[in-house]
Formats: sequence, structure tokens, C-alpha cells
Amino acid sequence: MNALEIRNLTVAVNGKTILRDFSLSVPKGETHALMGPNGTGKSTLSKALAGHPNYKITSGEVLIDGTNIVGLTPDVIAREGLFLAFQYPCEINGVSIATFLRAALQSRLPKGEAFEATKFYKLLYEKMATLQIDKSFSSRSLNEGFSGGEKKRCEILQMLMLQPKYAILDEADSGLDIDALKIVSQGVNSMRGPNIGFLVITHYQRLLNYIVPDKVHIMQDGHIVRTGNKELALELEEKGYALS
Ligand code: ADP
Ligand code: MG
Repeated sequence: MNALEIRNLTVAVNGKTILRDFSLSVPKGETHALMGPNGTGKSTLSKALAGHPNYKITSGEVLIDGTNIVGLTPDVIAREGLFLAFQYPCEINGVSIATFLRAALQSRLPKGEAFEATKFYKLLYEKMATLQIDKSFSSRSLNEGFSGGEKKRCEILQMLMLQPKYAILDEADSGLDIDALKIVSQGVNSMRGPNIGFLVITHYQRLLNYIVPDKVHIMQDGHIVRTGNKELALELEEKGYALS
């Protein structure tokens, strides 16, 4: 099946089990929202899927179009086509956005093949323009001294450049004002189509006015407690997490 399939996943952090028997499937071409209160395990899920070594998958499977990625390293998982936009992107001093992205794109090519500089910069500046990021940012160290909103736009820039098969956006809306929220949403919407699946993690319904999901899942205490269509997010906004 062409999907990001999470099957009966159990994840432990520092010896403590956070997710138990968690299952969710995002078919290619669809956008699913995952909502849930703070501390319920949304970021734990996304980091475990991306292969973070501290988030141990103790049982279950994660399939990307049928290939199990459990146990693979983050770079291999990324090359399999999974992208994670972090809730809290880290700052990398001394590595410019351009250098970082060029290396990431280069690593996807067969050995000996080079990503041509002019082609790279044309693509980079085009995507930066989409996200209204000033060209001068390309030579700045990754996320260093960026505002919250600039960090989030930089995460989306990486996604636009890397063209993943499945993208997980962990609270891409946190800390964004309304204009930045619209820009980020436009960036995401510009990529939507039959060849990509999105898992949009968010606390608030607001983002889902701009990135309208095909399905909404509500998570509590490490489990999905309800699944519905986009109206479920509105109901949640009105009644709070007690509804589930
Ligand atoms: P959410 O993203 O839904 O707010 P998280 O996945 O960040 O939730 O956290 C879920 C639970 O896992 C919380 O109780 C949190 O304290 C715990 N947790 C997450 N990461 C770590 C970590 N690195 N060390 C210890 N506990 C962690
Ligand atoms: Mg989180």
C-alpha cells in the first residue's frame, strides 16, 4: 500500500513507555491532522519515526510504501522519503542554510553525481521566495538567532527542497503570527498532491483553516481516541479535549 503506516508502535524514552500499541495510517495523497493536549506523545511519535536514538521503538512497525524503517538511522529514513519539521528546530552554528541543503540534496544522488550549483541556487531562491524568506538568509547559520517564525519557515523551506514522500509537521504553527501562518500554510499547500502524504501535528484548530485536512485524529495518553473529518477539529475547539 502506498502509505505511511504505523502499526502497533510502542516507544520508550529514558526507559519510560510513552506510546503503547499506537497505530495510524496516512495514505499517499492525503493530509491527516493529529491533535492532542500537551504531553500526550505527539513529538515522541514524530521523533521515533524519524529515528531519534533516544526514542526507542520497542515493538511495532513503521512502513513507508511497504518498507519497514524501524531500526534504520535518521539519514537512511530521510532518504526513504520521510521528512520531519521539528517543533523545536536546533541551531547549528557555522553551517549555512545553503551548505546544509546542498549537502542534504547531494546525499540523495548516486555516488559521483553532483548537484549543479546554478541549478541548486535557482531552486533555493525560488523556494525562499515562496516562503518570503530574504535571500540573505541562505548564508546565515542554520536557525542561529532566528525568531520562532523564521525557524518554522526554514523547516518548511527544507521540506520544499527535499521533496519527501511523507512529511510530518510537528506544531509548525506554534509561535507564528497570522501572516507567517498563511505563508507556511501556502508552502505546505503548494506541495500537496497525489505523490505526498502529510501528518500535520497541531494543538489548535486555527492552522487547519489554512491546511484543510482529509482526516483528523485526536490523541490522548499515547493513543488515538477519535478519528473524524475536518469538522472534528472544530468540535474539539468548541468543547476541548474532554469531548473524546
Ligand atoms: P507532546 O508533543 O504531545 O506535547 P511529548 O511527546 O513531547 O508530548 O511528550 C510526551 C511525554 O514524554 C511527556 O510526559 C514528556 O515529559 C515525555 N518525554 C518526551 N521526551 C522526553 C525525554 N527526552 N526525556 C524524558 N521524557 C520525555
Ligand atoms: Mg510536542
